[in-house]
Amino acid sequence: MRRSLFLVALGLWLGGSAAVAGPNVVLIYTDDQGYGDLGVQGAKGFATPHLDQMAAEGMRFTDFYVAAPVCSASRAALLTGCYPVRVGIHGALGPKSSVGLHPDETTLAEVLRARGYATGMFGKWHLGDHPDVLPTRQGFEEYLGLPYSNDMWPENPNAKPGSYPALPLLEGAGVADAEVNAAEQATLTTRYAERAVAFIRQHREVPFFLYVAPSMPHVPLFVSDRFKGKSAQGLYGDVMEEIDWAVGEILAALKESGLDQNTLVMFASDNGPWSIYGNHAGSAGPFRESKGTCWEGGIRVPCLMRWPGKIAAGSVCREMAGTIDVLPTVAALCGAALPERKIDGKDLGPLLRGEAGAKSPHESLLFYYGVHELQALRSGPWKLILPHAYRTMERVGRDGLTGRHGVGQAGLELYDVERDPGETKNVASQEPAVLARLVALAEAAREELGDKLTGAPGRERRPAAAVKWP
Ligand code: MG
Repeated sequence: MRRSLFLVALGLWLGGSAAVAGPNVVLIYTDDQGYGDLGVQGAKGFATPHLDQMAAEGMRFTDFYVAAPVCSASRAALLTGCYPVRVGIHGALGPKSSVGLHPDETTLAEVLRARGYATGMFGKWHLGDHPDVLPTRQGFEEYLGLPYSNDMWPENPNAKPGSYPALPLLEGAGVADAEVNAAEQATLTTRYAERAVAFIRQHREVPFFLYVAPSMPHVPLFVSDRFKGKSAQGLYGDVMEEIDWAVGEILAALKESGLDQNTLVMFASDNGPWSIYGNHAGSAGPFRESKGTCWEGGIRVPCLMRWPGKIAAGSVCREMAGTIDVLPTVAALCGAALPERKIDGKDLGPLLRGEAGAKSPHESLLFYYGVHELQALRSGPWKLILPHAYRTMERVGRDGLTGRHGVGQAGLELYDVERDPGETKNVASQEPAVLARLVALAEAAREELGDKLTGAPGRERRPAAAVKWP
């Protein structure tokens, strides 16, 4: 308490930042890391000591969901607090995408900037690569990173030659490196971490929002020489150990800067593991299927939140929550105004504070995949699967080469994911009342947000930005 009074007084003396009462916010969002790829969640063949320590010093969420099992849609939800269908983003946007996140949407960076925060982002953006929709137009004052996935690259061994243009590394709205090569891919994790640490040091006297989005462990996997060959698992484990090191560097920089007690650090992954890549993919832990499906393995992700003195050390939250909740939760903690447009996320404050009897703020969470197909929803312990085709694995790849997908067909199915996290026992016929309640929730969702599977247009969908390339 004395320390925070001192900091307020210091802020008053320095001027400008005194009105800001909230914490600094650091958000780390990895790419295709599975639920099982944390030491504390059973990672095998590699160690994540810094993430494990973060869990020991903060709250670990066991039932934390992304809004879609794929990069761009997942990131749209994280930054806007909206289901991706509401803001018109689906799938994974490619180079020279004709759409991007609409600048009229309000991102978490804009929410905090309006509150006087400095904002910086280092890592993968993937919400449109046209200059009009890049991070610097969406609330981030500083940016370094890849505009989309690191496999959208001429050297991708799984793509036909000529599929992708040169992969650029962007700095602000400009190009830092027009042709990222393999040697440079190997520097990305450390490069993002170094920029994150420099950002923290530069902004120790003003409140800040730092968003770090490692390009790894998305394939093709690359790692610094310092971590190469270090883990028993192999390259995937090496990559995870470098990401863990990067998290440790960020936490150490906060401590050295005297900001540890006044910073909320959040960590999650954008979707489940890309299991078709075999030994170059992570683990979904106990869950069924992986990235690109709305089975738990695609959508339930590792999540840690740490704020010493505010979030109880070593706590575990088993309530349902998701990335759509990050924006409203942070806005409430920081005293910032919510976006004017409707959002879907809710404030997780009561859960973070460990208030007695605090419950998930959601009656249900929706899961859309494909071009806005409502494929699943969860309510309480229940998971409703709606009839749809999903991808399975016929043959798993190895050492960076992909395997072969098959197609599965889901019917109207019901699972109790608390008792049966692996979604093995369809209890639809035993639980008709639960089934009817969840089907009614799906109907209401379709009415509001639409569903490609049923042809429902939805009343409240907002378009992505359409952009024109010269
Ligand atoms: Mg991803």
